Amino acid sequence: MIISNIETIRVGQFPDLLFTQVHTDTGIVGLGETWYAAPTVESAIHDYFGPLLVGRNPSEIERHWQTMFRLSDHAGYGGAELRAISALDVALWDIKGQTLQLPIFEVLGGGMRHRIKVYNTLGVYGNITDGYDVWNDPVGVVHSLLDEGITAMKMSPTDFIARETDGQILFNDDLDFALKPLRSIRDKFGMEIDVANDGHAKWNLPNAMRIVREMEPLRPMWHEELISPLNEVAHARLQSATSTPIAAAERLMTRYQHRRFIESRAAMITMPDLTWTGGISEVKKIGILASAHQMPIAPHDCVGPVNMFACAHIAMSTPNVMIMEYNRALHKGWYNDLIEPNFVVEDGYLLAPNEPGLGTRLKQSVKDRRDAIIRVSDRKEESWLMSRNRYTYPPQAMQDEFTSSTPRRSAGFSSVYYD
Ligand SMILES: [Mg+2]
Repeated sequence: MIISNIETIRVGQFPDLLFTQVHTDTGIVGLGETWYAAPTVESAIHDYFGPLLVGRNPSEIERHWQTMFRLSDHAGYGGAELRAISALDVALWDIKGQTLQLPIFEVLGGGMRHRIKVYNTLGVYGNITDGYDVWNDPVGVVHSLLDEGITAMKMSPTDFIARETDGQILFNDDLDFALKPLRSIRDKFGMEIDVANDGHAKWNLPNAMRIVREMEPLRPMWHEELISPLNEVAHARLQSATSTPIAAAERLMTRYQHRRFIESRAAMITMPDLTWTGGISEVKKIGILASAHQMPIAPHDCVGPVNMFACAHIAMSTPNVMIMEYNRALHKGWYNDLIEPNFVVEDGYLLAPNEPGLGTRLKQSVKDRRDAIIRVSDRKEESWLMSRNRYTYPPQAMQDEFTSSTPRRSAGFSSVYYD
């Protein structure tokens, strides 16, 4: 089987969302996704990685990951290239599962579990307006979650009060205002519902330390990104100020950035975003790394539907997954317009996708939309990324002489990476 072409699809309605479809000569199509700066990621796929992958065997996922990463990490590794790798990696796993006629979690080691508890991030889409409603009717929002069997949620009470001073000053009366909804929830429901706090990296360290101390009696499930995870030492100071676990972080890229937070007591929960940090291949490794430090992972998802499927396969096959993010406003809203089937959440648990591969497909109608932008790479070419690697090689005649001069070199050893 070879990769015959790579296609990207985005729609004007969701300008940050990018789907990629990896087509093979057998007719099997793999689906991947990423989010943010979609036109830039689209360029990374078609200008750099598409020409590398067309004509190659899609089953060599680890080799493709390593090659793409090594060919782009000279410029750092947190940018559009990594989101491109993430989307392509998910599509290759989808092909792998479909080829073997197994759900991806079966290929990753099999089911540790067949459902995973979710928490609802309060979103807004269509007639579901949890994100607004929690301010004027927090008790009503929690009632409606509990009615669906959902017993955990995430809110961002302090974002609004950081706006005026960009998080540099925390006024006492502002904090009282911000914590009113959570106090009402605790007064009414006690600990019947877990509540996580997402700070979206809006505060400086001393204010974040005040917030975690003030919220201690309200017993949040975790604090997430009250400060930006740029410095694990600052993060460790924040963790040392509270008994509430700190979660880090959707902004950390690959095992290499996660390692710094896992090993330095900067957090107690690892929260990778699969479609940003390197795909299924990388989150599996991050999960194993966290497990060696007895830390759980809680995959981040507040973006597209393919990420939910990909994270579900991680969650079913990885022992130390704690809980998965979920957004019912998106799930019941626009996810249905783009993919089929949609995933299933029942009684507060996401059920294992049981179809071969990822378990979902892009609806044909997405490509027919008037606001769809589609690009295809179908030619195998030498990417400049590969040719750049050869600048340091000797002339071809010398390479040939070198290769034929010993039995070992002429025996057909090939580079781990593409040559
Ligand atoms: Mg977050």
